[in-house]
Amino acid sequence: MSVLDYDIKFLAGVGEKRASLLSKELGICTFGDLLYYFPFRYVDRTRVFRIGELGGELPAYIQIRARVTGMAYEGEGRKRRLRVAVSDGSGIADLVWFSGAKWVEKQIEPGREYVIFGRPNVFRNSLSFVHPEIDLVEALVNRPTGGLQGVYSSTEKLTGVQLSSKGIARIMVNLWEHVKDRIVETLPQRIIAENDLMPLRDALYNIHFPQSQELLRRAEYRLKFEELLGIQLAILSRRATRTTAADGFYFPRVGEFFNGFYGEKLPFQLTEAQKRVVREIRSDTVTGHQMNRLLQGDVGSGKTMVALMAMLLAADNGFQSCMMVPTEILARQHFASISRMVEGLGVNVAVLTGSTRKKERDTILEELAYGRLHILIGTHALIEERVKFDNLGLVVIDEQHRFGVEQRARMWTKNSRPPHVLVMTATPIPRTLAMTLYGDLDVSVIDELPPGRKPIITRHLYDSQRMKLFGFMRREIARGRQVYVVYPLIKESEKMDYKDLYDGFETMSREFPLPDYRLSVVHGKLSPEEKDEGMRAFRDGETQVMVATSVIEVGVDVPNATVMVIESAERFGLSQLHQLRGRVGRGGEQSYCILMSGDKLSREARARLDAMVETNDGFRLSELDLKLRGAGDISGTQQSGTVFELKIASLSKDAAVIEYARRVASGILAEDPSLTMPVNALLARLREKYVNQGGVDFGMIS
Ligand code: ADP
Ligand code: MG
Repeated sequence: MSVLDYDIKFLAGVGEKRASLLSKELGICTFGDLLYYFPFRYVDRTRVFRIGELGGELPAYIQIRARVTGMAYEGEGRKRRLRVAVSDGSGIADLVWFSGAKWVEKQIEPGREYVIFGRPNVFRNSLSFVHPEIDLVEALVNRPTGGLQGVYSSTEKLTGVQLSSKGIARIMVNLWEHVKDRIVETLPQRIIAENDLMPLRDALYNIHFPQSQELLRRAEYRLKFEELLGIQLAILSRRATRTTAADGFYFPRVGEFFNGFYGEKLPFQLTEAQKRVVREIRSDTVTGHQMNRLLQGDVGSGKTMVALMAMLLAADNGFQSCMMVPTEILARQHFASISRMVEGLGVNVAVLTGSTRKKERDTILEELAYGRLHILIGTHALIEERVKFDNLGLVVIDEQHRFGVEQRARMWTKNSRPPHVLVMTATPIPRTLAMTLYGDLDVSVIDELPPGRKPIITRHLYDSQRMKLFGFMRREIARGRQVYVVYPLIKESEKMDYKDLYDGFETMSREFPLPDYRLSVVHGKLSPEEKDEGMRAFRDGETQVMVATSVIEVGVDVPNATVMVIESAERFGLSQLHQLRGRVGRGGEQSYCILMSGDKLSREARARLDAMVETNDGFRLSELDLKLRGAGDISGTQQSGTVFELKIASLSKDAAVIEYARRVASGILAEDPSLTMPVNALLARLREKYVNQGGVDFGMIS
C-alpha cells in the first residue's frame, strides 16, 4: 500500500472527527487526497507595508506591522462591533470585528506589536481591515510564514473544527513531513526531460509551499500539463477506437423519403451552411464507422431541418430514428412541425413523453417494435427500458447540454450495434472546451442564419422604467406582433419561486386587459394539456402576450413574436439569456429583447447584461460566460457529468497548455496507440485515470 492510500484520520492533527468532516465536506479521505488538495490562490507575505505609504492601487491582501493603541466596542445589536486602533509610527489604521469579537479581545494586548494581514479598505485616506489575521510579532518568529502562502478553500463546518484555510495549511505541513521521501514520479523521465517539467516531488512541494513566484509557476505548469495530458490521451484513444471499429450502420441510399421531401416539401431554400452539414452527415454514414457528430449552430440557425433530413435518410435505408429533446413542450412542437412538413410522404412520426397516456403509449411502443414507425420524437421517456426499436439507426439529441452523459449513453444500447449519433446545441462551445469535453466528436457548424433575418435589438431597462416597457409592448402589439414575458424560476418545485410569475401575470393582466388583449400563461405547474393549450393559442395568434417561466427557453418557434421581455434578467446566466433572446427574430420583422432588472446590480450581473446589449454573437457570449463564471461552474450545473474533473487546470485560462498537451498526446499515440510499450507504462496508468470520466462516451458501449 502506498502512503498516499493511508486513511486521513491517521495524520497528526486530524483524528476521527475531523477526518469524517474532511471526507464529507471536501471529499478528502486519504493522504493522497489531501496532497492533491491545492490552494486556490496565494498571498504574498514577504512584503510588509508602511501605513503612511499606502495609497493608490493596492494588492488585494496586504500585511502591516503595528502596535495596538486602543480598543472599544461600538454600535448596538447586530451592528455591534469591536474596533481596534493600531499605529506603526508612519500612520494609523483600524481593525474591525463584527463576529468573534470576544475571542479577539482576549488575544489582543494593548501596547504590543502585531503582524496584521488582510484585505485593506481605504476610505478618505483612512485605512481599515475587517476580520484580519493577527499574530504577535514574537509568535511569528518561530513559524515559517514568510514567502508565498497558499489559501485553501474551506467550509463553515470545517472552520468550526479549526480547519479553516490556515488549519488546512497546518495539517499540510504534517502531511509533507510524512510523504516527502516517498513520492513516486508519475511521468516518464523522457516526457519530463523533453518538456522541461519540474519533477513531481518538487512540484507538489512548491504548489503547497512555494519558495518563489518562479517555482510556483513551474509547479503549476507541471501539474496542469500532467492532468491535461492524461485527459488528451483518454480522449484521443477513445476516438481512435471509434474510428477504427467497423460496426457503423451503412446508409448508401438517397431514396423517396429524402428526395420527396427535398423536391416537393421543403418550404424554403436551405442555407449553404445547412447544405454543407447535410453533406457531412451523408458522408459520415457511408464510411462503415459510427457517426458521432456535434452540430453547433446559434439559436434560429435551422438545426431542426438538418436533423429531419438526416432522419429521412435513415428511413430511406430501412432504419428508424429518434429525436430526444429536453422538454415536453419542445417535443410536441417538433412533432407538430415535422408531421406537417412530411405530410403525404408516407413517413410515420410519433411523439412520446412522460405524460403520454397509457393506451396511446402502448400503440406507439407496438408500432415502434414492429418497425412501422420511422421517427420517434420525445423527452427522457425515450430512454426507458420498455421503449424498444425494431432497428434504430440514428439518434438525434437536441439541446444536448441538457442531458447527462448517462442518459445519452443509454440510447446507444437500443440496438445491437451503436446507432449514428447527431447531437445538436445552440450553446456554442469555446475551442478549449471542444478539445476536452467534446474531444471525441466531429464538429459541424452552421455559421449562417437563414436570409432576411434582422439582428435583434437588445435594451436594458430598470424596474423603475417599467412604463416605458408597457408603452413599447402596446405599440408592437398594435402592429400585430406578439410578446413573450419571461420570469426566472430557480427550482420548478418550490412554490415561492412562482410568486414573481403570478405577480407578474397580475400586473400584465391589468396593463393589458380584455377585451383588447389576451394573455397565455405557461409554466411547469400546469398539466401537459394546459401547457399545450397556452402554447397553441399563442402560436395561432389568439393571444398577444405569453407570460412564462423559462420553460420556453429552448426551441419554441413562433415567428410572429418579436419582443422578448426578460424579467429579473440579472438572475439568469448568459447562455440562458441568449437562448431566451433566440425565441424572437425568427421572421423577417425587426425583433427586440428587453432585459428588465432591479436598480442595484452586482458587478458581474452588470457585465452580463452589458454583454447582451452589446452583441448577438453566441460564440462571444459563451467565451465571456466561461470567463465570468469560471469553468468549474460548468461542471456543477448544466453540463453535469460531461466535464472532466479538473484539479488544477482551467478550461478558460489554460488554452495554450491544452493545445500543447494534445499535440504531445497525439505524438505519443502515433508511436504506441495502445500504450503497451514498457516506456509508456506510466502513461497508460495516467490515461486510465480519465477513461471513465467526462466526455461523451459514444461508441464505447456495445
Ligand atoms: P434552431 O437551430 O434554433 O433549432 P430552428 O430549427 O428552430 O432553429 O429554425 C428556426 C426557424 O428558421 C424555423 O422557423 C425554421 O423553419 C426556419 N428555417 C430553418 N431553415 C431555414 C432556411 N434555410 N430558410 C428560412 N427559414 C429557415
Ligand atoms: Mg432547436
